Amino acid sequence: MNAPAAVPAANFLRNQIESDLDAQRFAGKQWAGGPADAARLQSEGQPDPARIRTRFPPEPNGYLHIGHAKSICLNFGLARDYGGVCHLRFDDTNPEKEDQEYVDAIIDMVRWLGFDWQANGTEHLYFASDYFGFMYECAEALIEAGHAYVDEQSADEMRAMRGTLTERGKDSPWRNRPAAESLALLREMRDGKHPNGSMALRARIDMGSPNINLRDPVLYRIRHAEHHRTGSAWSIYPMYTFAHPIEDALEGITHSICTLEFEDQRPFYDWLLARLAELGKLAKPLPHQYEFARMNLSYIVTSKRKLLQLVREERVDGWDDPRMPTLVGLRRRGYTPEAIRLLCERSGVSKSDSRLDYSLLEQALRDDLDPKAERRVAVLDPIKLVITNYPEGQSEACTAPRNPHDADAGVREFPFSRELWIERDDFREEAPKKYFRLFPGNTVRLKYAYVVRCTGFVKDDAGNVTEVHAEYLPDTKSGTPGADSVKVKGNITWVSAAHAVSAEIRLYDRLFADAHPDSGDKDFLDHLNPDSIQTVQGWLEPGIQAKPGMTWQFERLGYFTADLKLSTVDKPVINRAVTLRDSWTK
Ligand code: ATP
Ligand code: MG
Repeated sequence: MNAPAAVPAANFLRNQIESDLDAQRFAGKQWAGGPADAARLQSEGQPDPARIRTRFPPEPNGYLHIGHAKSICLNFGLARDYGGVCHLRFDDTNPEKEDQEYVDAIIDMVRWLGFDWQANGTEHLYFASDYFGFMYECAEALIEAGHAYVDEQSADEMRAMRGTLTERGKDSPWRNRPAAESLALLREMRDGKHPNGSMALRARIDMGSPNINLRDPVLYRIRHAEHHRTGSAWSIYPMYTFAHPIEDALEGITHSICTLEFEDQRPFYDWLLARLAELGKLAKPLPHQYEFARMNLSYIVTSKRKLLQLVREERVDGWDDPRMPTLVGLRRRGYTPEAIRLLCERSGVSKSDSRLDYSLLEQALRDDLDPKAERRVAVLDPIKLVITNYPEGQSEACTAPRNPHDADAGVREFPFSRELWIERDDFREEAPKKYFRLFPGNTVRLKYAYVVRCTGFVKDDAGNVTEVHAEYLPDTKSGTPGADSVKVKGNITWVSAAHAVSAEIRLYDRLFADAHPDSGDKDFLDHLNPDSIQTVQGWLEPGIQAKPGMTWQFERLGYFTADLKLSTVDKPVINRAVTLRDSWTK
């Protein structure tokens, strides 16, 4: 399976896995060809062909973003590196917000990142909702063993009784009701006989625990809601904290890797699995949870709620707007899977929260594209340059390397002629100090063509320069013996006006102007960058085929990609993925 990684650095997760493997902690672990409870493993289990099992467990309630990429790279990467298998599991236990649209988009993007979930002839693609039946059996078994009860308090009452960090909780009046009564009520809950919120199933652990998560957490709640896969089969749904350990155990996960905010849940994770193993529902070895710090980046927000708000309020043009930190957005912007994997590798694995500078993401893209992107020329803010001593109607070929780092890539050809487009900024009526490009009397090289001397310019009635004039020095063509006969300090890019391809070019910048748009009590919407998109009509090197997804370095300008949705060869729409240099970090 799977994409090559940069050389992985040691981290606490790798150390953990290595010591687990050395100690043969999973020796004797069974696998029954798919998720299995203890009974099925007993009858059908074979030695597990996977040395470790990890999982990426998205909830299908939104599009994946750059933070998810970290979890994907980590889980799939560890499985790949240690002879294991990584499962893609949809944690679809929350019916209201989930949808098949998100399932499809997530599958698509995990594949795009270069990972897959096939191993040993099996597709390891799973849905938590497929385990609802087994989870329910676990709930009944816990009640029968005295480990759970149905509580008829309202959510507010339960909260009031839960206590605080310094004060123990109080027992619910229903805590010691007979198991048979709880069982009957749970069945009624399941059968849809009670309204939302009227009762809930709770674990019976310890209302005096210093860990609030162990003060009889809720396991099941009533939700009369349609589920995108199970329809109206269920009117109760398991809580994430109950469902997740069971999902891991059924799938034989060895290392259940999650983000730091779940650290306080680990005692419950272990408690629940230990009880279910004692009750004969789950087989050992049981999974173990490990926590690492989220990957946070400056200048973005990744909360699904906030991303959804940007989309709903049309602050951006959909989930795949090229300014969004979603993977669909980054792909459309021109990000490569390799660049994203590189960032995830470089960001390391840590136990303490931090925020990476956004420029690291941009640098990863430059580092990925520099050796492989073909070079082309484009002019984004065009002004006409007329070579007054070059014959009208004549043209000649110039050649340039497709990729200066790769001699095998060969050369490209494009015509030189009398009228060219150059960047407006490459001409000044009066040159400031250290300005070496075109100004009256100065000579510069037109890259891959001739040295020219600026002879004048034309202005319109409003005083704007509309045309620059120059004469070329015929012996100075690049690649000919005379090329070095004249020394110049400036080297500018150009395209032949009669041959260039017109294109709509979208110059993107960061979506937020503030490095921490949602920190403290800031409203992230107040910090949108008003200049995050600028659309220009520019000119591209002739011969360019702007098929969706094609990526180039436009010399001197940055990396650009033909828009996946909008670009056609006849009507190119080009996104700037990243500039050549970082202009934000000072
Ligand atoms: P939200 O809280 O905004 O809904 P989430 O993180 O809960 O997002 P999930 O679909 O549950 O979204 O995430 C799937 C997996 O991705 C989880 O294991 C989660 O820990 C991990 N993940 C999400 N964001 C990050 C991040 N920034 N860095 C690393 N892992 C992340
Ligand atoms: Mg989540």
